[in-house]
Amino acid sequence: MSTPKMELRELGNTGLKLSCVGFGASPLGNVFGPVPMEEAVGCVRRAVDLSINFFDTSPYYGNTLSEKILGKCLKALEVPRSEYIVSTKCGRYGDGFDFSAERVTRSVDESLERLQLDYVDILQCHDIEFGSLDQIVSETLPALVKLREAGKIRFIGITGLPLDVFTYVLDRVPPGTVDVVLSYCRYGINDTALDDLIPYLKGKGVGVISASPLAMGLLTEAGPPDWHPAAPELKAACRAAAAHCKSKGKNISKLSLQYSLSNKDISTVLVGMNSVKQVNDCAFGFSRISKMQTFVKHCPYDDQVEENITAAAELATEGIDDETLSEVEDILKPVKNQSWPSGIQRT
Ligand code: NAD
Repeated sequence: MSTPKMELRELGNTGLKLSCVGFGASPLGNVFGPVPMEEAVGCVRRAVDLSINFFDTSPYYGNTLSEKILGKCLKALEVPRSEYIVSTKCGRYGDGFDFSAERVTRSVDESLERLQLDYVDILQCHDIEFGSLDQIVSETLPALVKLREAGKIRFIGITGLPLDVFTYVLDRVPPGTVDVVLSYCRYGINDTALDDLIPYLKGKGVGVISASPLAMGLLTEAGPPDWHPAAPELKAACRAAAAHCKSKGKNISKLSLQYSLSNKDISTVLVGMNSVKQVNDCAFGFSRISKMQTFVKHCPYDDQVEENITAAAELATEGIDDETLSEVEDILKPVKNQSWPSGIQRT
């Protein structure tokens, strides 16, 4: 199969050009189930080969495992540093939240060591709704500005599930403090709430990253992991939508990713990918037999990296399947924009 070229999109005022499909590395921290090392390398290699240039991780994913594995993979692949963009986060850890200036400053050095990098392109305050937003404004972001001036990070971001936390912070910091927001689960077929915020973000010159186009597994045939926080009726509606697509010989994940990608105001859509069909030779010295056993055991039929990149390429050439999209939208209408509580509940 010929390699589809990934569309690059500008990220706000950063000057960065991100592949429209970004590689979400939380699965490398075993967040959705165990991912053996050789499969992780295979996924990252496949992503690079198929022209994904954006990788997102966090010290929180797998309690630092995702950062360590992503660092090893990128090092092993020997891709020139200027050819990929890495985002990691601070403030959320396996043992809780800490957005203090001291902790986030130390956190960056720890992340750089695990990632085996001299700088990260984007550093994001991870899930700010769990912290004091006033602390984010008055202490955390000023600490990150110093790190940006020191060259350890190139750009600053904030992430979260509720959307009002972004406006709270952006209304209170000097222009140019925050370069990027990462919103998740708020721009997919079942939830498009992010769309209303985009004009405001554009007005502030802030780049938009949208993560979890498959709603953290809700919009997949396999369904979400046990820990998924959605209410039963939302899970049931997504299950019905996936079954409907399957009955027509269509794939809910492909449709969902294409839907998120169709919004060109979103610079990149981060998908979590943890399986790849072809595990190539890698620098970790695994024997071919062990690779084949892993292949047979963990990913006999699917290659999420290639599937997702092909979905993007097909969207560009053929457009989206409007008929199936409209049927799925009808199924999901009763749960449209239904989210779930996250963080400190503010009145
Ligand atoms: P997602 O919606 O991308 O879903 C991931 C799940 O879908 C995984 O189980 C994966 O195996 C499966 N999947 C991927 N491609 C598939 C395909 N083609 N067919 C079938 N199943 C497929 O959710 P996510 O992984 O939570 O989000 C993506 C990334 O976004 C994360 O890895 C992370 O980097 C980022 N993210 C950040 C935040 C935050 O900063 N607060 C929150 C959520 C996600």
